[in-house]
Amino acid sequence: MIRVGVIGVQGDVQEHVDAVTQALKRMGVEGEAFWLRRKEQLEKVDAIIIPGGESTTISRLMLKNGLFEPVRKLGEEGLPIMGTCAGLIMLSKEVEGATKEQRFLELLDVRVNRNAYGRQVDSFEAPLRLAFSDEPFTGVFIRAPQIIKLLSEKVKPIAWLGERIVGVEQGNIMGLEFHPELVDDTRVHEYFLRKVL
Ligand code: GLN
Repeated sequence: MIRVGVIGVQGDVQEHVDAVTQALKRMGVEGEAFWLRRKEQLEKVDAIIIPGGESTTISRLMLKNGLFEPVRKLGEEGLPIMGTCAGLIMLSKEVEGATKEQRFLELLDVRVNRNAYGRQVDSFEAPLRLAFSDEPFTGVFIRAPQIIKLLSEKVKPIAWLGERIVGVEQGNIMGLEFHPELVDDTRVHEYFLRKVL
């Protein structure tokens, strides 16, 4: 029985809960996904997802709810954590375009530009190449950040848009510019969940 907590302070939380539920079913693994809002819930969690939304708000509410520091510690200790879009920003070590009050978990050795696509194009869909699947995956980008630099050799690319890296992993930590929870395709969630098994 595996338990996946989706940080539920702001953003597209239910979409991730549904995607995890679907992915577990496809994998034939017993488990559940739930909204993670209080730090007491961290006692019974095998993996965490930080959803898309607005990273300043997520940062503020994670600090307010006392989730920020315990989640950072769990990530450091090896708990699988996946961040998508704003969640990727939350996980990054360096962030261009951050607001003053924003804090980052600094679990992923990458530099991101927080509103990179935003200025040019608000949102778009495009086929991506995945490191772990032969078939393309539909990437949904919404005011997405861009991974502009990998800061250590521990970071491995796992998704590409053309030549550009749009998804990475560093051991137990996974960060994506796009929103795998918004397409009817659970391959990315399944890949993440295999880190728990
Ligand atoms: N760029 C946004 C931010 O700073 C993230 C957008 C998203 O998650 N869809 O939080």
